[in-house]
Amino acid sequence: MHTVKTSHDNQVSTTVYGSRAAATGIPRFEMGEEEMDPRLAQRFIKDELLMNGLPALNLASFVTTYMEPECEQLMADALPINFIDVEEYPAMGEIEARSVAMIARLFHAPLDNPEAEACGVSTVGSSEAIILAVLTAKRRWKEKRMAAGKSTENPNIVMSAAVQVCWEKAARYLEVEEKYWFCSPGKYLADPQELVDLVDENTIMVVGILGTTYTGGYEPIKGIHDLLVEKNKKDNLDVTIHVDAASGGFVAPFVNPDLVWDFQLPLVASINTSGHKYGLTYAGVGWAFWRDKSYIPEHCVFTVNYLGSPQASLTLNFSKSGVQVVGQYYQLLRLGKSGYRAIMQNATATSDYLADEVAKMGDGKLFHIISAGHGESLPLVAWQIAEDKPYDEFAIAAHLRQRGWIVPAYTMAPHTEKMKLLRVVVREDFSRSRCETFVRDLKETVHYLENAPAEVQKHMSKTQAAGDEGSKHHPVNTSKKTAVHANEKHSLRGKHGKTHAVC
Ligand SMILES: *Cc1c(COP(=O)(O)O)cnc(C)c1O
Repeated sequence: MHTVKTSHDNQVSTTVYGSRAAATGIPRFEMGEEEMDPRLAQRFIKDELLMNGLPALNLASFVTTYMEPECEQLMADALPINFIDVEEYPAMGEIEARSVAMIARLFHAPLDNPEAEACGVSTVGSSEAIILAVLTAKRRWKEKRMAAGKSTENPNIVMSAAVQVCWEKAARYLEVEEKYWFCSPGKYLADPQELVDLVDENTIMVVGILGTTYTGGYEPIKGIHDLLVEKNKKDNLDVTIHVDAASGGFVAPFVNPDLVWDFQLPLVASINTSGHKYGLTYAGVGWAFWRDKSYIPEHCVFTVNYLGSPQASLTLNFSKSGVQVVGQYYQLLRLGKSGYRAIMQNATATSDYLADEVAKMGDGKLFHIISAGHGESLPLVAWQIAEDKPYDEFAIAAHLRQRGWIVPAYTMAPHTEKMKLLRVVVREDFSRSRCETFVRDLKETVHYLENAPAEVQKHMSKTQAAGDEGSKHHPVNTSKKTAVHANEKHSLRGKHGKTHAVC
């Protein structure tokens, strides 16, 4: 065969797609022997990243997808900074302390004076914050039990089974038993009495969720608190509350300022929030707060040297980027309370508009809205098909995906897992105008599915019982990740087929 000689070796003038690498493919499993031109490496990776969905059209996630260019510049400048090097980069510690002070005051931390130091740390997300909170609560419980000469064998956490998966991890990693309150049809937020009834002398904390990932609802934390006060008194216990405010921490104070859920309640010992959700910072930052130092046993704190003076360190990692804390501080400074209020109120208004539009579809009979809305929940819309239809929520998600929209269809928390839901999270950048485009596409999707042949309706729907691995053929289950321990039996997913809503 005659082959045409190409000028592959002429490195200098080779174009990206005229290069040898473009013709032969790039290394996937073993590092290449040869270097690659930076232009080529950048281009090939860019091309690979095209397979990602568009963050702005990703209505599945709470995590921030928009920040101002001024802040992006600051964050890019902070890329070479290792956050943990407090001696070399003292400004990072300062910025963290200021952010902790501001957010802790937003959550009504009891502080002696306007300049008092608050008790909190930046984390990589709410997951790390929650693990730290469980760690300190477990140790505090253990020290008290040991002092009283009682068993420290069986610590437990009391919480709703609608918790985010990080709670299962925290419990498992730190060897604490999970005592669950389960949802039932129509009842998706923990019942205070039923939850508090699960508390015993081995309970290290009761969890209240400020914004569940399934319906965005706020658990009745004050109600839980008041019953726990009684229970503590009656049974001579000292059980405290942790509030998981991952997504609600920056919403409720601005949209629903009269809701009492935070350190205003004396038994609230710790709170976490995700700076990268409604804290409006790109992914990678969360915050953990404690009521005061007495809730952080010395045993959990390590001292690092900070400009010759000792600085307490409570974190699961050592080196990490300083980028996100800079980004968070920019938002706190730039937006102030009125900026956050405006954004959260807009998001709430947009989600109410979307809920109304969804409710009107199919002559007002097709869908049933499950999220509360009107500032009584996170700015999200969760809904289900109310009528008997030959297609399901998964079919709607799959068809919307063809138009670029990423909307998760999922099944409800354990014990209500037969119920299918669709959920749109309204983030800062999901403006009214973008929402109107989405409503148009949702109407078209419904029209398409109503008129599609029966085989198409069935093919696009997820017909297996909840908990089965999604059909390989279903249009939304196209990723082929290698499953490590895919058939786990230890988790809520393994036992109840819990699907964790994307967050
Ligand atoms: C997102 C979320 C988490 C986990 O937070 P990350 O910041 O992603 O680690 C925990 N709890 C709730 C209620 C959440 O919404």
